[in-house]
Amino acid sequence: MEKLVEKASILIEALPYIRKFRGKEVLIKYGGAAMNFPEIRENVLHDLVFMNYVGIRPILIHGGGSAITENLKKKGIESRFVNGLRVTDKETVKVVAETLLEINRGIVRDINRFGAQAVGLSGHDAEILNVKKHKANGDVGFVGEVTSVNILPIKELTEFNIIPVITPLGIDKAGETYNVNADEAAAKIAAAMQVQKLMILTNVQGILMDKNKPDSLIRSLHVGEVEEFIKKKVITDGMIPKVNSCITALAGGIRKAHIIDGRINHSLLLEIFTDEGIGTEIVQ
Ligand code: ADP
Ligand code: MG
Repeated sequence: MEKLVEKASILIEALPYIRKFRGKEVLIKYGGAAMNFPEIRENVLHDLVFMNYVGIRPILIHGGGSAITENLKKKGIESRFVNGLRVTDKETVKVVAETLLEINRGIVRDINRFGAQAVGLSGHDAEILNVKKHKANGDVGFVGEVTSVNILPIKELTEFNIIPVITPLGIDKAGETYNVNADEAAAKIAAAMQVQKLMILTNVQGILMDKNKPDSLIRSLHVGEVEEFIKKKVITDGMIPKVNSCITALAGGIRKAHIIDGRINHSLLLEIFTDEGIGTEIVQ
């Protein structure tokens, strides 16, 4: 009996949060390593379905991570990264696109299987992600910097309670396909959609003071501190586009941006339905 009462009170505790987020969009970026484990994947997708059922409107953008690296390796193409961005030539962009679309189909299929409706959108279609060649890190080839977002196809879906699952591919003025860093795409879509919250799921606790010490989690980081942390090499590699993405989103008027450990069971629900939250919050 006590257990049952506890269950009921947990549901009641979620009520203020459900009220706050009902009918509102939240953007979730689901990346690389956290996608590789079936149990984690199932957990994340179940959380999305739960949100959808209580009237919250999640939008999912996914990365490709290790699947892309593996598929490139099969074709004898080495993966190289500059500040967390994948160096992408013509041959690479083809493999990237194929892999991302396959991942997209899998996520859509599973969300549908878990009882909500999802539709896959490629950032490449309907000019959802318009890009130009990324210049921030020297020449990284067909890596696109998002110049504008067409939110109409996304809104069409969320308004009907369908979960958009977006592939981080972009198109430039000449019609070329570009690989877009999924963190960056997430920030631009979050700002364009004016979502309530940006949540970036990854395979670490959040931003760590020392990458090798899981207990060195920084719970809250001010945007003003980020540059110094990058300079001092506290924040490196794939974490750089994540913090920059949070900064872009905040500058774009989004009130909350979090980097969350996707490996924790139901991390999304914990973040959305509790006061404490988890991972690192970037604050302005
Ligand atoms: P994803 O596939 O989720 O985009 P990435 O590998 O691109 O993940 O980025 C996450 C990685 O960033 C971590 O696994 C870690 O190796 C690295 N990283 C760099 N600096 C930090 C930091 N200060 N705290 C935590 N992780 C960091
Ligand atoms: Mg990454």
